Amino acid sequence: DGANDYDMELRRRAQAVIPGGMWGHQHVQRLPEGYPQYFTRGKGCRTWDANGRGYIDYMCAWGPMILGYQDPDVEAAAARQREMGDGLNGPTPALVDLAELMVETIPHADWALFSKNGTDATTACVTIARAGTGRRKILVARGAYHGAIPWCTPSVAGVTEEDRAHLIQYDYNDIASLEAAVDQAGQDLAGIIVSAFKHDVGKEHILPTRAFAARARELATQADAALIVDDVRAGFRLHIGGSWELVGVRADLSAWSKAIANGHALAAVTGSDRFRKAATEIYTTGSFWTAGVSMAAAIATITKLRDTNGVAHMEAMGLRLREGLQKQADSLGLKLRQSGPVQMPVFLFEGDDDRRIGNRFCLEALARGVFFHPVHTMFLSTAHTPAIIDETLEISAEALRATANAL
Ligand code: PMP
Repeated sequence: DGANDYDMELRRRAQAVIPGGMWGHQHVQRLPEGYPQYFTRGKGCRTWDANGRGYIDYMCAWGPMILGYQDPDVEAAAARQREMGDGLNGPTPALVDLAELMVETIPHADWALFSKNGTDATTACVTIARAGTGRRKILVARGAYHGAIPWCTPSVAGVTEEDRAHLIQYDYNDIASLEAAVDQAGQDLAGIIVSAFKHDVGKEHILPTRAFAARARELATQADAALIVDDVRAGFRLHIGGSWELVGVRADLSAWSKAIANGHALAAVTGSDRFRKAATEIYTTGSFWTAGVSMAAAIATITKLRDTNGVAHMEAMGLRLREGLQKQADSLGLKLRQSGPVQMPVFLFEGDDDRRIGNRFCLEALARGVFFHPVHTMFLSTAHTPAIIDETLEISAEALRATANAL
């Protein structure tokens, strides 16, 4: 490659001016060698790296892209708003339109407020729960990701014990451990935060059981504490009204981001009337939080997902991919374990603790033009059509064969 390796050139330049060359979850060092760091373009379900190589994309910008990159309806709505203004001295009418749409679409929601990132939303949920109960303890599932600031970041660098002093851990889907955590919180229970499903990195993805969800609801209600659903990653992909609609449980507070505006920067908290007053008492804001373009994009995104039943399409495509891949892997004797909702899969291989098999498979797919992630939740979009899934399966068949041969 050498001379035409723009990705490598960018990485070299970044080393001088960006700490470590990159930070956070998108650092290419977290992937096996061979993945690109930089991307220049996306359209539909395809993305192109800085060296001009195109991929069928199963990361969807790590979740935000749900209708396809550059969805024409979303981009038209965004462009109309951009012509009038984005950040102004106060919110645009799109704020009220979007809040109304969310309250109408999401059964638990009596109100909504907006910010930019998932972390903003989960943090506001925790703060509102504490303000609304006058208590301190928040129950958090062991290993769950809720964002990247001191109370929840997976790293301990720069974090003090005090930042996490009032967190109590439980195990997801384990009723006894949740009950024990509630007991430990005693009279000081402010809230229970749950992920939409268990989607810890590198682990099998597991949906909540109905019994666990119902018990979490019951325990929060009994204590008059908040049940908080972190729907940042899964929101709008599993159910248009919130992921826990699938288990028949409604949250007091939910955090949203990622797919809400098809790639435009936006997050939201939705809440029930029980926590409306608390939401007026906390101080939460940001310079860009009221900007109109992302809100116009969100209105177009949610409306289109709802009117076209995007969830059902993503489910059908996810199932087509899962069944196809499983047949291919089984026939080669590769122990592929797919888990999670079909539209948000993770592919792991049995006994692959050093990730040798998973990494190899993903690199073989990458080399043939399919972008999978070896350990993180992946994402399908409504732009993934049956033809695209079948094209993917032709490539995966070769990638799996190459993986089996290499082992
Ligand atoms: N919660 C969950 C479940 C997430 O997946 C993420 C992002 N990966 C966050 C919170 C934090 O969102 P953000 O990175 O936008 O701050």
